Amino acid sequence: MKRYLIGLAALLGVAASPALAQDYPTKPITMIVPFAAGGPTDIIARIVSEHMSRVLGQQIIVENVAGAGGTTGVARAAGAAPDGYTIVMGHMGTHGAAPALYPNLKYNPATDFAPVGLAAGTPILIVARKTHPAKDLKEFIDWAKKAGDKANNAFAGVGSVSHSTGILFNSTIGTKPTMIPYTGTGPALNDMVSGQVDYMTDQIVNVVSQIQGGNIKAFAIALPERSPALPDVPTTKELGLDYQVSAWNAIFAPKGTSPAIVAKLSDALDKALDDANTKKRLAELGGVIPDKAGRTPAALQKLVEDEVARWTPILKAAAANEKK
Ligand code: ASP
Repeated sequence: MKRYLIGLAALLGVAASPALAQDYPTKPITMIVPFAAGGPTDIIARIVSEHMSRVLGQQIIVENVAGAGGTTGVARAAGAAPDGYTIVMGHMGTHGAAPALYPNLKYNPATDFAPVGLAAGTPILIVARKTHPAKDLKEFIDWAKKAGDKANNAFAGVGSVSHSTGILFNSTIGTKPTMIPYTGTGPALNDMVSGQVDYMTDQIVNVVSQIQGGNIKAFAIALPERSPALPDVPTTKELGLDYQVSAWNAIFAPKGTSPAIVAKLSDALDKALDDANTKKRLAELGGVIPDKAGRTPAALQKLVEDEVARWTPILKAAAANEKK
């Protein structure tokens, strides 16, 4: 009966009744990660969901649904029942960049979701295999220009963070490498550690330990300020390169999810981000923990709208440059 009621509520496009929202959650919640396991979206999802599930009193099961730069998993979440039992860890790619790069994107990042909240800011780094001949960013840019399509740039599929920030980087420095797609930057990083791909631009949480361990090279962080997690890595600003980008990961529920359920999820996220252990784990990996005002559903809605507007012209220009 309960099932029928939820189904009916979804069908009518109205929120589940307050009584049902009050009981929520009564069973495990699935958090879709739209990339392969082991990458930054997966890492952030696992760190944050651990404390969230403690607050909610139910398990949060991470399900990796990779494909099409994260848009496959996010489309699945958009089409899931809006009952709070399927949520998704999206990011700047799936909810900011994808509309510019997919003419037939199956969801609208700004209107097909009930935003829950921002989980972490993730600065972007320019990293390369440790056997790379360049010793700094300038040498790397010279190498990339000379190598042309012999250079390999790993990325996590069209519209992903590594793709959008990668094509922007390549158009900024004026080079056209061969782009090597992966189902996430976790597997891309493994191939970089074993020396099979040359470079990528990726979210800090994925690369910090491999940089610290000397398994890959970091040429620059694309921020005006250095990261406390990697104090020795220079900024693009210091190095005089006009390339400053940062990404983020955030949790979304399908549109139509009851505001009471969204509030419970958002409160659990807020508590997770205040938890000392969660904070420590994210900070060690270079994740930037949003302040209270930046964690609300309303702040995330605005972020998505701003990011789509900001990225669309930049990425259309960078994609056109790739095709020239
Ligand atoms: N950082 C990846 C991206 O390029 C995705 C991932 O594996 O989390 O979008």
